[in-house]
Amino acid sequence: MVCTCQGEQAHHQHQQLVYPSKLGVRTKVDEPLSASQAIEVLQAGNRRFVQGDVKAGGLGPDKRRALASHGQRPVATVIGCADSRCPVEQLFDARPGDIFVLRNAGNTCTHAEGSMVGSVEYSVLNLETKMILVLGHTGCGAVMAATKLFMERHIEATCQKDAQESTDQSTEVSKSEQPPQPGSCKSRSTLLGLLDALVPVAELACVELGGGSIEEIAAHAVKVNVWPTINFLLSYSLIIREKVASGEVELQGAIYDMSSGAVEFLGQSPKQAQLLNSDAHVVPSMQA
Ligand SMILES: [Zn+2]
Repeated sequence: MVCTCQGEQAHHQHQQLVYPSKLGVRTKVDEPLSASQAIEVLQAGNRRFVQGDVKAGGLGPDKRRALASHGQRPVATVIGCADSRCPVEQLFDARPGDIFVLRNAGNTCTHAEGSMVGSVEYSVLNLETKMILVLGHTGCGAVMAATKLFMERHIEATCQKDAQESTDQSTEVSKSEQPPQPGSCKSRSTLLGLLDALVPVAELACVELGGGSIEEIAAHAVKVNVWPTINFLLSYSLIIREKVASGEVELQGAIYDMSSGAVEFLGQSPKQAQLLNSDAHVVPSMQA
């Protein structure tokens, strides 16, 4: 990559915006970036991606060898969705070594607790990432499927209630009647189990919007869905809580807009202060 900036000051600013490295790729010889530096570099990378002015090309043998022999020092940890249209490294114009990325359908921790939380702890402890970003995206299929599931169950519950009321001679509704609770249906596949866990997100999105079409609720649920993942990390990781409490590490949410290519940063979880008082050290599925 050739820098075309003019003058020392411009050159300095230009260097600030790309992923900074001493060997041309980020390795352990580089200093960790602070959370605010990491955000700046990620935002600059995303701007290059949106503008079609990407700098991250292939790695030559020297840079590959540098990565292999000098270890990794990524600028941030990102939990994203597995959707093939949301490749985290590309939308931040990053190269191998720049970002520590975890992805699954729906960017969730719910049913991948151990691997997700443990991997984030690894990156924070051993690679010294100071910025943990949970990245949702517009048009998320997992969130849409969970929203459909929520709407079906909601309609089913309403129909059952109407049917019972119409056959009931009394005007009083049976006190034992309980609509099915979201997420309570016995899962018939692992996929359904994953979607079940996202149903409360769709429900909350519906409540916050005061109703709406499936598309409207799913669009809002994409934003609502970054918080449970962040809150889960805070609730069950002492390592993350301690580093967030000391101000060394930041946990933020963001949404990738697939049409524009832009990443919108949403800041910290509204529940962060409250969750820093949690006392759990291990995710529920690994607790004895
Ligand atoms: Zn998705």
